[in-house]
Amino acid sequence: MSGRNALLPGNANRGVTACPYIEESVGSLHDDSFGDIWASSTVFRQLRAPKLSGKCGECEFQVMCGGCRARPLASHGDLFGEDELCDYTPQGGTVIQPLAVNEARPLVWDQDATSRLEKLPFFLQKMIRNKVEETARNQHLNRVSLAFMDQLRDKRFGHGMPAFPFRKKMGSNL
Ligand code: SF4
Repeated sequence: MSGRNALLPGNANRGVTACPYIEESVGSLHDDSFGDIWASSTVFRQLRAPKLSGKCGECEFQVMCGGCRARPLASHGDLFGEDELCDYTPQGGTVIQPLAVNEARPLVWDQDATSRLEKLPFFLQKMIRNKVEETARNQHLNRVSLAFMDQLRDKRFGHGMPAFPFRKKMGSNL
């Protein structure tokens, strides 16, 4: 939904709009900072906690989707009206909330743990980093050490690590 988590564009006159498809400006960068406009604009505040009407207001996906806001504004002047092009028929269930993103505690990786990760094939690194960090957070750890990675490896594979074609070639200890 526009204005909640999108990067908001400024038009040629430095007017800020909630969406490239909405013409009405909610403030001007000539007069205010973007941060001030973002915080104080009535439209942006409403978009951050929208009260949708029509079928969007009855839809269990209204928080995750929210529909296009430019379309109902253009067709009948209601920024929070239903998105008429949506084919979905709301089922009347509980509104589904997005999964919370665990961004409260950034994790610190020890240098040797980082080096171990970087020796893995590139295409595996992101997946393994996410898995290691998820496990560390679940254990209320603040940092990822080599010993912690050893623990996870042993838990996953036991002490007899399966042969991994990249290990020797890339000098990995994994
Ligand atoms: S009715 Fe369609 S556009 Fe509206 S919130 Fe539900 S899925 Fe999104």
